[in-house]
Amino acid sequence: MAKPKFIQPSVTFTQELKRRIDAYFVDNNIDKTGNGKLFSKAIILMSLLALVYIHLVFFTPPTWLAVVETLILSSIVAAIGFNVMHDGGHGSFSKNKTLNKFAAYSLDLLGGSSYMWNMKHNVIHHTYTNVDGYDDDIEAQPWMRMSPTQKKMKMHKYQHVYFWFFYCLLYFAWIFQADFKKYFTKKIGLIEIQKMNAADHFSFWAGKALFAAVFMVIPIFKLGFVTWIIGFGIFLAFTGLLIAMVFQLAHVVEDCNFVKAAAQVNSDAEIIEDEWTQHQLKTTANFATNNKVVNWFTGGLNFQVEHHLFPRISHVHYPEISKIIKQVCAEYNVRYNEYRRTREAIMSHVRYLRYMGTAPQL
Ligand SMILES: [Zn+2]
Repeated sequence: MAKPKFIQPSVTFTQELKRRIDAYFVDNNIDKTGNGKLFSKAIILMSLLALVYIHLVFFTPPTWLAVVETLILSSIVAAIGFNVMHDGGHGSFSKNKTLNKFAAYSLDLLGGSSYMWNMKHNVIHHTYTNVDGYDDDIEAQPWMRMSPTQKKMKMHKYQHVYFWFFYCLLYFAWIFQADFKKYFTKKIGLIEIQKMNAADHFSFWAGKALFAAVFMVIPIFKLGFVTWIIGFGIFLAFTGLLIAMVFQLAHVVEDCNFVKAAAQVNSDAEIIEDEWTQHQLKTTANFATNNKVVNWFTGGLNFQVEHHLFPRISHVHYPEISKIIKQVCAEYNVRYNEYRRTREAIMSHVRYLRYMGTAPQL
């Protein structure tokens, strides 16, 4: 099937937005990619990962400390994903292409395939945000229903209660099931993935083997199977929960739209009844952008509006360019979704899931 198309822009809003953002970087004489602060943050996070891992695996801390350190390890892994891998994948971590590749490969060390991430996230999610059947991020059927066009089941009535459990499974499912499903079916949702060359196949399997060696074989050998499986379970669950919550608060809240591409007469390419920029603004929300801890931890993923409009600009610039984007949105009377606090976004997510649990199917 041909990929869906967006309506072509008819307003000057998009051009004006791009013009002012470009002017900001020219006037201030700064690159759109990451800066020294981001590089040092990457080094700090990778060093912390190594330190906590070595202490946990080779120095056998007492049980209570091991649990605390495992939770810290999960937070560091999530932070590397948000801050380093995500920018690297978008090519915004650095001006240097090799550095971007290394930043993106951090995902393979942490269990996920960077090749599949590039397809799923950069190509599909960023184009078809919240489009049912295309955006893999809103696909958790039959367990959860996130879009009104998805099939409703009786258990969805309770999804606003049990979603925590499924979010804890996200990381586990991602690295042990979803990547392999994509690899063997050669598809993500309705879209076929780009043909993999020999290097892509190698990086896929080498990444999986490296993760298995570092996070499974060595700890089992050093700690014993029972201790490892408990620690590994806590590690996967907490990492999954952190990642899922940050993803979900950006797109699956009450203020965001969910759409379905429509069939066209005389064409097998479906159409999305919107212009791309407007679509991104309608399907995306920010949260807690004034909270320095959230900003630091989520690597600007709480500035998701800025990220979806300008995915090739590093997140270190989002606080500044968000002022420009808000201004242009206000001038053109265009919607800009934002939750002031994290807890407001979480409450909105829970309310949306409860609503979607019983809302009629479209
Ligand atoms: Zn992204």
